[in-house]
Amino acid sequence: MNLVRHPLISPAPGTQRELVSLHYGKPGGQKAYIQASLHGDELPGMLVAHHLRQRLDALEAAGQITGEIVLVPVANPIGLSQFVLHAHLGRFELTTGENFNRHYPDQIEAVAAAVEPQLGNDAKANVALLRRALKAAVEAAPVDTELQSQRRQLMALSCDADIVLDLHCDAQALMHLYTETPCWPDCEPLAAFLGSRLTLLAQDSGDNPFDEACSQVWWKWAKHFGNRFPIPQACLSVTVELRGAADVTHELASADAKNIIDFLRWRGLIAGDKPAVPQAVGDARPLAGSMPIKSPVAGVLTFVKEVGAEVLAGEVLAHVIDPITARVTELKSPVDGLFFARDFLRFANAGMRVAKVAGREAIRTGKLLGA
Ligand SMILES: [Zn+2]
Repeated sequence: MNLVRHPLISPAPGTQRELVSLHYGKPGGQKAYIQASLHGDELPGMLVAHHLRQRLDALEAAGQITGEIVLVPVANPIGLSQFVLHAHLGRFELTTGENFNRHYPDQIEAVAAAVEPQLGNDAKANVALLRRALKAAVEAAPVDTELQSQRRQLMALSCDADIVLDLHCDAQALMHLYTETPCWPDCEPLAAFLGSRLTLLAQDSGDNPFDEACSQVWWKWAKHFGNRFPIPQACLSVTVELRGAADVTHELASADAKNIIDFLRWRGLIAGDKPAVPQAVGDARPLAGSMPIKSPVAGVLTFVKEVGAEVLAGEVLAHVIDPITARVTELKSPVDGLFFARDFLRFANAGMRVAKVAGREAIRTGKLLGA
């Protein structure tokens, strides 16, 4: 394993953060890129990365890694260090207020224009050419803040990968995945290996989150070039929501790491007998059908349904209680669907989103991701 340090722009004299990437196998074949805790306060992925590293060390010692596997166990050292009044705030950068998982750079048109004269009828050659040009464009993009240098480095490590897994978590939730619709055929076996109950599909959900920045180049280039050149969907990029923020246990992380290794072996990056794809336990639904449940009033929040429940439209999920007036407000599901995520806070502000139910119909429009 080759450990590489990538210094970020120093935000102040005497201060220097870095990203650390662990490189297994060798370039030339398929490449998988896995990063943990891009939201610095979402820790299940970091423990999965720890278990993955041990498994990868053993596979490397046994000479079984046939592809290239890059693991970034701490994808956001900036957010990881943000404590304010003893609260860990790893989702938004304190300097700018920006979400660490938004605003990844888009080099699609520039790269398309640069490589067009060299594209041809060989899809594989087109993929290699586009990957080289994209990586060069990402690395050459100017940055002038620590946050931008972190985003650029993460993109530089991942943008030429066949498989990108971005390990996150929700507040209290079932394991679920986000991927772009053109990735679903490649994502379906991953969902089965991970035992994920739900995959939320969207195309260009808004504000360029990391996973979409890695996958969208391919379908956008395919659209750009039309039928002039064959451009396949050459990157499966997935945000893996590893349940809830407090689901940080060796039992879960070890099982998740094993399932990721099984998937990589099934894909051919690790030698040995391919495992059979497990029976799926979930399905894919439109992100536009994942309905946020808002509280219209403030009060003490208590849930009357557990995550994992299949609910009907109109079913009560939670109560919001004003202890001064004794008023109890029922929060109901707007659709039939899977109650898959809820907040861990037990006080709701007026207008706060406190839970999510995944229906089957695409209802919402506009930007589909939350803050
Ligand atoms: Zn996250």
